[in-house]
Amino acid sequence: MKKMKTLVPGGAGFLGSHLCDKLIEEDLEVYCFDNLGSGRKENIKHLNEKEDFHFIKGDIRDEFDLPDIEFDEIFHLASRASPRDFKDHSIEIAMTNSLGTKNLLDLAKEKNSKFLFTSTSEVYGNPEKHPQNEEYWGNVNPNGPRSCYDESKRLGESITTNYIKNGVDARIIRIFNTYGPRMARDDGRVIPNFVTQALDNKPLTVYGDGTQTRSFCYVNDMIKGLIKAMRKKDTTGEIINLGSNKEIKIIDLAKKIKSLIENEPEITYETLPKDDPKRRKADITKAKQKLNWKPKTDLNKGLQKTIEYFK
Ligand code: UDP
Repeated sequence: MKKMKTLVPGGAGFLGSHLCDKLIEEDLEVYCFDNLGSGRKENIKHLNEKEDFHFIKGDIRDEFDLPDIEFDEIFHLASRASPRDFKDHSIEIAMTNSLGTKNLLDLAKEKNSKFLFTSTSEVYGNPEKHPQNEEYWGNVNPNGPRSCYDESKRLGESITTNYIKNGVDARIIRIFNTYGPRMARDDGRVIPNFVTQALDNKPLTVYGDGTQTRSFCYVNDMIKGLIKAMRKKDTTGEIINLGSNKEIKIIDLAKKIKSLIENEPEITYETLPKDDPKRRKADITKAKQKLNWKPKTDLNKGLQKTIEYFK
């Protein structure tokens, strides 16, 4: 039987590499396409021996040269996503999510591929509505330090929507904070920071007073959601949040991580970055209804697995 062929731009990244694992497990032929900007060969090295796994180095912003294949599915996961990168890689990020998305949608149109654009909870900005459902338009600063990411994801959504109107079978998934093994040690996001700090017995750096909240989803749950969003019937043209609906204050996250390791690191307070969203919690009513999906991994369990990885 002919195997389904899937293209994963961003496939060497944190989420992308876990998705490639799952697709290979499902016995599909997987083409991982990555510029290795934030993605890492290390994340996919165990896949290189698989006959159905193909790595192609390239950049979705360029006129890329992919083998002439009728991809059944394209999961667009290509973009740096850590706020740490918003300063030094701002133009790259802005163009990856806009021009890069357009380039991939052209490919989807040409090859008649199903398409999934990974957007983000950042499109809600510093939300005035809580929790955030898909109807909310967001509160975003178009010129702020996060705008290279949040505004380009918003434009990516707009471009995707307009390709949908032109016949492409695409869906938009807004990913909320996700964590787990294969985040880079120096990723800069809060869970890899706290976990590596705690393991090194260094102070945990809480930004601001730590009362800001996030809702953290374990990577395996997220990957299952992405696959369902691509495969379930009637997801064409849909916008769906995927993430956790269990909110936690950053200071409580620091305390929790401290309690899960043997060391006794201090907690220090540093300046809160500009435009850091105050609250964030996914409303996942739609994902539950449309995809029969909700995250299953409890935060303690997911953190333990993440701690094991960083050890
Ligand atoms: N944060 C923190 N200490 C760190 C890294 C991040 O207190 O070492 C805070 C950050 O200010 C934000 C939250 O943790 O309020 C989540 O930050 P992250 O960069 O992980 O993701 P974001 O949700 O901001 O994209």
